[in-house]
Amino acid sequence: MIQKLISYLKDFSHLLYPHNCEGCGTDVLHDDAILCTKCLFELPETNFCNTSDNPVEKIFYGRLNIVSAAAVYYFTKDSLLQHLMIELKYRNNKEVGFYLGKQLGYQLQESQRFTDVDVIVPLPLNPKKEKKRGYNQAMIICEGIASIWRKPVLKNVVIRTLFTETQTQQDRVHRWQNMQNVFAITDTKILEGKHVLLVDDVITTGATLEACGAPILKIPGAKLSIATVAWTI
Ligand SMILES: [Zn+2]
Repeated sequence: MIQKLISYLKDFSHLLYPHNCEGCGTDVLHDDAILCTKCLFELPETNFCNTSDNPVEKIFYGRLNIVSAAAVYYFTKDSLLQHLMIELKYRNNKEVGFYLGKQLGYQLQESQRFTDVDVIVPLPLNPKKEKKRGYNQAMIICEGIASIWRKPVLKNVVIRTLFTETQTQQDRVHRWQNMQNVFAITDTKILEGKHVLLVDDVITTGATLEACGAPILKIPGAKLSIATVAWTI
């Protein structure tokens, strides 16, 4: 409870008081921006939102029948984007997630390839991880997207059912086998005939998004697109 209160006060104070840029640390920002203009423009954009057959879409070929997929930024090691992702995932910095979600929201809104999306669904986090972290970073990103691009965000319609261990050492086939039945739909009616945008923070192999997207595509009339903040090269 106290932690929640501190977190709330921290979020709130951020809006009221000047703070420094997460990138260069020097510019003083006054609104809910976390980067100065210079640092924002230095983030390496992919332009995948406006590009069909982009690398993110290609990794789903033959695996998942998606409409469109995109990531906003290239993710590289020791970059500003990596710093922001660490802030979001491990340092309780939800403002970063909301801000990056907004950048994704601007691009989705301007793109002609995502216009008929009906609902936004965050990739569910493992419940134990979410409890430990206090939030699902994909949900924070969704809230940022929806603050710009007015689409409903559906929480808890797609859930994660099993605890899965870290899978970084496993090859793609093993990951895929392990991911089967990890995701479940709690309310299929609400997604019937809907174009669902599934959102996560970063995409690497696409195995988790594939496992989550597969049950969505089994719903009658459902269509699927995918959007993430970062794409690892
Ligand atoms: Zn800066």
